[in-house]
Amino acid sequence: MEITVNKAVITLVQGDITREATDAVVNAANARLAGGGGVDGAIHRAGGPAILEECRKIGGCPTGQAVITTGGNLKAKYVIHTVGPIYRDGSKGEADLLKSAYLSSLRLASEKGLKSLAFPSISTGAYGYPLREAAQVALETAIDYVKDHDDIEQVKFVLFDERSFNVFCDELKQLIG
Ligand code: ADP
Repeated sequence: MEITVNKAVITLVQGDITREATDAVVNAANARLAGGGGVDGAIHRAGGPAILEECRKIGGCPTGQAVITTGGNLKAKYVIHTVGPIYRDGSKGEADLLKSAYLSSLRLASEKGLKSLAFPSISTGAYGYPLREAAQVALETAIDYVKDHDDIEQVKFVLFDERSFNVFCDELKQLIG
């Protein structure tokens, strides 16, 4: 599914983000930038050790913020590592932190002059964020950002499993009425 908002195309696909050829792919990292399971593990496996080496030098990233490294052996030139919130009960600022993770990644892409980036569904795996609510935050944040910023040409959401893909499509349809 694809929509155009201002100067940008927002695309939803089902797939493996490590194969994306956007300028940057976003990693759902942990605060220590130590690598791990899920999409984080997949990105480090596919991208090779140069990514973890840069992560070690950076040292860490607070929840809701983002840092950038090389893309190593990936097709994407850069990896933007952002840290989504661990979902507790929804009253611990989770929605604001998730929004901030998306927004920090988009801002970093703009600062670096990047035109396209691909996001996984941040926080909805090991971090337990309810998928539908997370999809709404993700899509609203991306749409609002590209409405105000002409530099980004493509924001792609690469959803690994069919359920995530379907929920993101449903939410996008609702958001655009
Ligand atoms: P978090 O710790 O932020 O919840 P996870 O990696 O556990 O991050 O999960 C986030 C989402 O990333 C999940 O929907 C998971 O299915 C998905 N995912 C796992 N591997 C990949 C991949 N290679 N490409 C895209 N998404 C992936």
